[in-house]
Amino acid sequence: MKTQTEAITYSNYINGEWISADGNSLEPSVNPANKNEVVGYVQLSSRAELDAAVSAAKAAKTEWRKLSGAARGEFLYKAANMLESRLDEIAETMTKEMGKTLPEAKGETARGIAILRYYAGEGMRKVGDVIPSTDQEALMFTTRTPLGVVGVISPWNFPVAIPIWKMAPALIYGNTVVLKPATEAAVTAAKVIECFDAAGFPAGVVNMVTGSGSIIGQGIVDHPDINGITFTGSNEVGKRVGQGAFARGAKYQLEMGGKNPVIIASDADLDLAVEGTISGGLRSTGQKCTATSRVFVAVEVYDTFKDKLLSKVRELKVGHGLDAGTWMGPCASENQYKTVLSYIDKGLAEGADLLFGGKKVTSEGLENGFYVEPTVFENVDIKMTIAREEIFGPVLALIKVESFEEAIELANDTEFGLSASIYTKDIGKILAFINDIDAGLVRVNAETAGVELQAPFGGMKQSSSHSREQGQAAIEFFTSIKTVFVKA
Ligand code: NAP
Repeated sequence: MKTQTEAITYSNYINGEWISADGNSLEPSVNPANKNEVVGYVQLSSRAELDAAVSAAKAAKTEWRKLSGAARGEFLYKAANMLESRLDEIAETMTKEMGKTLPEAKGETARGIAILRYYAGEGMRKVGDVIPSTDQEALMFTTRTPLGVVGVISPWNFPVAIPIWKMAPALIYGNTVVLKPATEAAVTAAKVIECFDAAGFPAGVVNMVTGSGSIIGQGIVDHPDINGITFTGSNEVGKRVGQGAFARGAKYQLEMGGKNPVIIASDADLDLAVEGTISGGLRSTGQKCTATSRVFVAVEVYDTFKDKLLSKVRELKVGHGLDAGTWMGPCASENQYKTVLSYIDKGLAEGADLLFGGKKVTSEGLENGFYVEPTVFENVDIKMTIAREEIFGPVLALIKVESFEEAIELANDTEFGLSASIYTKDIGKILAFINDIDAGLVRVNAETAGVELQAPFGGMKQSSSHSREQGQAAIEFFTSIKTVFVKA
């Protein structure tokens, strides 16, 4: 196995080799828990390196697609085993690189392993249907064909799980891959690719090029030999990716932001609702696309819910993700930290009332990290910035509602539609919520985050390009259907 753990500088992975071009600048990946610690350096690559990776992927695609799904699955099983053998180390790197607590980083790495095994098995599943023809002497059926070369552009908040939940289906359905990971989590991504290397994929089937979004990301969007692009990240970048891909006829898939609501009905189990609101909103420092952000609470239980919530939020231990007992780590980067603090300032300036938190954490040992207190606002108007824009930080906005109908109306008053949850025992409200809420992920008596890997994942409205990732649904994006008519 060609690991790069001894070296602090990580290379690109092109055509089965770790390669660093002479003259590349290097980007330090900084520990957000301690800005003076560099976790590793990654290449700020050029378009020439992207071209080399795409050429390798293009050259490899014919042989790769000729393999059976079962044979391709064997490589995914091996990659899963390699990742499993390095779970602790890779999880620790993730914690150091983007601040997630170690138990969460281990959970995410375990999920990456499970996704690889899931898709390894998907290689054996049927890919088409026989359709009765009006011509009794003909056979009509559908089959599927891979797209060819798939460009994967991933964010920093799930640096193991997201690249894998895109690469694994791409590969099992016969595509070759060029990954451009988020720069802020590219060391963790490089270690994942080391596991793919150790699994022995044929050269060129899996490639990784690190570098800036504007050069390598945009290069993937523009590249004439990339046939499909799967992107997860912000709406701003996603729209650009979608427009660029559409303009040159490449297939694209965009998973973007959220402003996810939870409704606490008057009959809710309040302890469960408090637990789900805190976990959904503040775990991973609120840096999940499915994070709970807006909390609509029935007037009858508002004060009790608020008191219970605050008493739990006060107890949350903020600290270094590697320290046992830490519940919430830092924001993933200085940029993210400044953005979150600026949203808190906007909330105050626009007249929301701060119930808890709102400041940077400066306690002993945490001065050099990008820590923000878990933050709870109340008296938030639906038109305020903190109720409309994705904050991607540990900030909850409580909004009192007079009726269930008002809760649904306000929950839908957003341009996003990723995840939504309700806490109630009333079957009528549950069914109305399932029918009326604008969200791709609908959760009842469960937090907004936490969708299982075998189920479709994706959003409505501006959260998504409306295709789905994960589970069997992924085949829709990573293949094209061929309708075949055969006459003897
Ligand atoms: P981002 O800034 O949009 O970056 C995402 C990826 O796009 C990174 O690899 C980035 O590269 C790259 N990129 C930047 N500019 C580009 C360009 N012009 N062309 C092509 N690619 C470009 O998002 P992020 O800050 O990493 O992630 C946070 C966002 O992701 C949040 O909005 C969150 O909601 C969303 N997210 C959505 C889901 C979902 O499934 N719906 C899941 C997780 C996260 P660099 O890193 O080099 O800038």
